[in-house]
Amino acid sequence: MSTLIDTYGRSHRDLRVSLTDRCSLRCTYCMPHDFAAWLPSEKLLRTDELLTVIEVATSAGIDEVRLTGGEPLLRPDIADIVTRINALPKAPKLSLTTNGLRLAELAGPLADAGLMRVNVSLDTLNRERFKMLTFRDRIGDVFKGLSAAREAGLFPIKINSVLMPAVNEDEAPALLRWALAQGFSLRFIEQMPLDAGGIWNRSTMVTADDIFAALSTNYALTPVPARGSAPAEEFYINGGPETVGIIASVTRPFCGSCDRLRLTSDGQLRSCLFSHEEMDLRRVLRNKELSKEEIHQEIADRFHKTVLGKLPGHGINDLNFIQPFRPMSAIGG
Ligand code: SAM
Ligand code: SF4
Repeated sequence: MSTLIDTYGRSHRDLRVSLTDRCSLRCTYCMPHDFAAWLPSEKLLRTDELLTVIEVATSAGIDEVRLTGGEPLLRPDIADIVTRINALPKAPKLSLTTNGLRLAELAGPLADAGLMRVNVSLDTLNRERFKMLTFRDRIGDVFKGLSAAREAGLFPIKINSVLMPAVNEDEAPALLRWALAQGFSLRFIEQMPLDAGGIWNRSTMVTADDIFAALSTNYALTPVPARGSAPAEEFYINGGPETVGIIASVTRPFCGSCDRLRLTSDGQLRSCLFSHEEMDLRRVLRNKELSKEEIHQEIADRFHKTVLGKLPGHGINDLNFIQPFRPMSAIGG
C-alpha cells in the first residue's frame, strides 16, 4: 500500500530515476544539438545517495523504479546500481529506458545484475533519418544493442518511438511491421513540449489520432481494456495477441490516473514532467548535521510534501501553459 497519496486521491507507486543528464545522442525533440549546459559532476547524486532515496521511496510505497536519463547507460556503475537496488529490503520492479547505444556490451551484465526488462528508444529504421534526428551516425549500435538485449532475455523489449512532422511521420506502419517481426513491443509517444529548443508546435505535431489512422491503413486495431495507470493506450493488432501502444500525453492526457514521481540526476524530486517546482533531496542527503535516521525521515517527509503539492494535470493544453525550465533529457523521461 502506498502512503504517497495526493489531494486528488492518486496513489504514487512509480519512481523515474534519472542517473545522468548527459547523453550520447542529441534527439531534436529532447535537447538542442549544441547543448553543453551539463550539470557539474559534484551535483549528481552519488550511488549511495541514490540508494538512500530509493530505499526511502520503497518504504513509502513506491514499488516500481525506472532508470532513465539523459542516457542511463553512460553511468559507469550502472550494473552495480541495478544489483544494489535489487538487494534493497523492498526491492521494486526495476526497468530501464535507454537509447540502446551501449546495450551490446551491457545487456548481459545488466541481466546478470537482475534487470528484468528494457525500453529502447528508436524513432526510425533509416540510417540517414537517424543521423538527422539524433545528430549521430549510430543506428547500427542500436540494432546491435537490441540483439544483445534479446540474447540476454531482457523481455519484454519495448520500443519507444516519437514521430515528428516532416521527419519520420510516415514511418508508423514500417516501425510496427519491424517490431512485430522482431518480437518487440512498440509504443508511440506523442511529442511533448520538452525540447528546450522550442521546436514543438501544437498545430503540426503528430497526434495519437494521426498515428492510429496511419496504422489502421495496414492493421485492424481494437482497444485493449483495463489500462489502469499505464500511460499507453494499448491496441490489439489484427485481433491480438500482439499489441501496439500510443502514449497521447498531449491530445488525451492521462493525468487523472498518474502514479509517477521523478528524481532528477541532481537529486531534485518532481511530481510531474511539467512541474515548475522541485524538492531538493540532495541538500538533505549531504547535510552533515543530520543522522542517518534523520536523513531518512526528512527524505520521506519531502516525498509526502511533493505528492501533496501535485497539480491535477500537466496543463499543456491551458492557454497560459509555460514549458518547464529543464529539457526532457535533464528531467528524466
Ligand atoms: N536516453 C534514453 C532514451 O532515449 O531512451 C532515456 C531518456 S529519454 C529522455 C526517455 C524517453 O523520452 C525516450 O523514449 C524519448 O523518446 C522520450 N522523449 C524525450 N523527449 C521527448 C519529447 N519532447 N516528447 C516526447 N517524448 C520525449
Ligand atoms: Fe538522449 Fe534519450 Fe534525449 Fe535522445 S531522447 S537525446 S537518447 S536523452
